[in-house]
Amino acid sequence: MTTNTSEALFAKAKNFIPGGVNSPVRAFRSVGGNPIFIKRAKGAYIFDEDDNQYIELINSWGPMILGHAFEPVEQAVSEAIKNSFSFGAPTRREVEMAELIISMVPSIEKVRMVNSGTEATMAAIRVARGYTGREKIIKFEGCYHGHGDSFLIAAGSGAVTMGVPDSPGVTKGVANDTLTAPYNNLEAVQMLCDANKGQIAALILEPVVGNMGCVLPKEGYLQGLRNICTKEGIVLIFDEVMTGFRLAKGGAQERFGVTPDMTTLGKIIGGGMPVGAYGGKAEIMNCVSPQGPVYQAGTLSGNPIAMAAGLTMLHHLNDHPEVYTQLEATGNQIVGGIRSILDKLNLNYQINHVGSMYSLFFTETPVVDFETAKTSDTAKFGKYFHGMLDKGIYLAPSQYEALFLSTALSQENIAEVLAANEAVLSMI
Ligand code: PMP
Repeated sequence: MTTNTSEALFAKAKNFIPGGVNSPVRAFRSVGGNPIFIKRAKGAYIFDEDDNQYIELINSWGPMILGHAFEPVEQAVSEAIKNSFSFGAPTRREVEMAELIISMVPSIEKVRMVNSGTEATMAAIRVARGYTGREKIIKFEGCYHGHGDSFLIAAGSGAVTMGVPDSPGVTKGVANDTLTAPYNNLEAVQMLCDANKGQIAALILEPVVGNMGCVLPKEGYLQGLRNICTKEGIVLIFDEVMTGFRLAKGGAQERFGVTPDMTTLGKIIGGGMPVGAYGGKAEIMNCVSPQGPVYQAGTLSGNPIAMAAGLTMLHHLNDHPEVYTQLEATGNQIVGGIRSILDKLNLNYQINHVGSMYSLFFTETPVVDFETAKTSDTAKFGKYFHGMLDKGIYLAPSQYEALFLSTALSQENIAEVLAANEAVLSMI
């Protein structure tokens, strides 16, 4: 396998783009080596600029639930393009999209479209602050909610001290309004609430974490947070940018039976196009301009091409419950297979798994939060990553990411993924 074209492109890119990439994790910093540059993808496969073929286990970080370039979505986009690409004015599809999202996601009574997950979470906390008249928020160490200033505190990195920004450029003022707690620890949240009585507007979390690797909520944890938020008058926000429409038709909130006050959604609702959304209780969402005083806007919000792609995708998910049966089966088969391989090789690495999301952690410590995730041997992960890439399997280039399966994976693909795992895990 040669990657000469990718290497040449990366060398050139570094002259023009910071670090050579438009989003940091793409640079392969944590696994070493050079990133591969992607040319195209179809179904379960992704192809690089040197025409190497890989089986896709990232799927654009989640949205390609039905595989790449799913034909009905392709057709919908081709049709929509004929009518121009943007109007900055209301369209019929936006209304259909809102109605469909509300019918699928339990917590959403009203919804506003935006252009990315980052915009969705930034807007959601502004609305929660406007609604409650309070300023502070709680987030969890290792959870990622996009690059809004308020969220770059203990965001999937080493900085776990309360109120210390992870990134230069985030002011102390903003950092002071973000309180952080370890994931899966209800007492820590209650202590923050007690110490900041009546000052906390919102608590935001990934109901299943994807951004410190896949981490599941402990039994009763989500309900416990729901109870604390109800008692303290805090707006509970589920960031379902990764889990929405993936872990169930109605996301993690449907799967775990806990309804937040607000929900943020991302890339999945655009079928991979740049889209996000935030929604929730009508009483809260009525605070949003022009109905209420909390300002939030966007020229490209509800973009007609993105809406065409997303609507087709969501209709398909809504009308085909077998999609979820298949995602569960594929997840169980791959993760079950890797567990058997680990047993056979006498390795006690941890796998966290729910539905079509999973992570293999190179640690023997059960991973339940950011501290335990960080016990992973990232050098070993780097070897595993490159070993799998050489065998034609495209994984997320960091230990602290989840993998996302699609319905495009065939039985042959699954067998190939498992054979590659066996070969690479025996080697490292
Ligand atoms: N929230 C979560 C849970 C995410 O995983 C991400 C990005 N992967 C975001 C928010 C930010 O979304 P975007 O990259 O589209 O801005």
